[in-house]
Amino acid sequence: MFDKILIANRGEIALRIQRACRELGVKTVVVHSEADREAKYVKLADESVCIGPAPSAQSYLNVPAIISAAEVTDAQAIHPGYGFLSENADFAERVEKSGFVFIGPRPETIRLMGDKVSAKDAMKAAGVPCVPGSEGALPDDPKEIIRVAKSIGYPVIIKAAGGGGGRGMRVVHTEAALINAVNMTRQEAQAAFGNPMVYMEKFLENPRHVEIQVLADSFRNAVYLGDRDCSMQRRHQKVIEEAPAPGIARRLIDRIGVRCADACKKIGYRGAGTFEFLFENGEFYFIEMNTRIQVEHPVTELITGIDLVQEQIRVAAGEKLRFKQRDIKLTGHALECRINAEDPYKFTPSPGKITGYHPPGGPGVRVDSHVYQGYTVPPYYDSMIGKVITYGDTRDQAIRRMSIALSEMIVSGIKTNIPLHQELMQDARFVDGGTSIHYLEQKLADQVLAKAK
Ligand code: ADP
Repeated sequence: MFDKILIANRGEIALRIQRACRELGVKTVVVHSEADREAKYVKLADESVCIGPAPSAQSYLNVPAIISAAEVTDAQAIHPGYGFLSENADFAERVEKSGFVFIGPRPETIRLMGDKVSAKDAMKAAGVPCVPGSEGALPDDPKEIIRVAKSIGYPVIIKAAGGGGGRGMRVVHTEAALINAVNMTRQEAQAAFGNPMVYMEKFLENPRHVEIQVLADSFRNAVYLGDRDCSMQRRHQKVIEEAPAPGIARRLIDRIGVRCADACKKIGYRGAGTFEFLFENGEFYFIEMNTRIQVEHPVTELITGIDLVQEQIRVAAGEKLRFKQRDIKLTGHALECRINAEDPYKFTPSPGKITGYHPPGGPGVRVDSHVYQGYTVPPYYDSMIGKVITYGDTRDQAIRRMSIALSEMIVSGIKTNIPLHQELMQDARFVDGGTSIHYLEQKLADQVLAKAK
């Protein structure tokens, strides 16, 4: 095991990784920006290093500063968390070339899966079902693009090969709008991701977002740890996640899970990862793989009893997976609500000082958050201030516990989306389970209309 790990992230995930390290008896170094200097989790770490001013480009994305922080503190490994540099193959390479262990897959794997076109090709080759679409990237020739769209059938979605975070996508319903949409997505992709390559997929009208968690070691052992449903989304961003996905037969999950674990073995995957699928009419369609720990990992931890962050660290340290597929048992149901510092209906960010804070508790309630009374939410980063996660023997119990937890929770001084979550826990369609990825947006749009009347 490592003696010391550097955590190259901030907020709740920095604290989450720190907790995993402490349980493993590993010392921690937290790097932070000037804006995060006073955060409690920074003070809780064994060591901390300021790596630059508030804007992430100068701090959390500042590769030379992070590498020198690891050098001066004698850390052996770097945990990138999620977001920031977590899926940056060049960073992973720099980390390894500088003599540290990157807690994640090999740089080549990140590169392969980071380009959505090559990722899809690799998955097809490994026998994972994909959304019908263009063979690789779209060519320049408009005639050829029109032909591809025709053969797939409208509506289609144009997606950036280098895209992420729900950006770089455009739905096209008619041939008349096609070429313009492709050109605009190309331009956006070039500006946002430095890569103008785009590809085309059939736009699935009413799918659910269902994903499979995997864990693999460096010896080509891989397991899947069940599924999660993340269909409650706004602007392609997840709002509520749960495990397992309600109403999907276990044998269907097992069939796709085995393929994901096999694909990991084929590509020599190492670490924790997620295969994301759209699920429609009983079929799974691969859309992308995330080669890192995800925000929603706690729901899987609660139904499997496995600490994913600790296992990530163990396999990065060269240990063999400690369990086989048959050892993995899913019990009960877990839900996660992402708590954001934002207006619950207008969604405008609401940074500032938290003047009152009372987190919920009780049976089956977990709160992953770095905030406290007196903490100031900086305006520079993502608006998520924490996650409330509940567990129950049944989905109904998890929902009831979530409703109670949200009603107990107090965050004052800033606005949060807790009222929206409270409302969703009472929503008849959500309570039934199995809503599509469009459900939340539709509901919000209907509310805006109703208010206007
Ligand atoms: P990102 O990397 O930006 O998260 P994804 O490829 O994972 O991009 O897609 C994000 C979301 O966009 C999906 O969860 C889904 O809501 C929507 N989406 C992507 N591809 C399709 C598709 N072919 N049909 C319908 N919706 C899609």
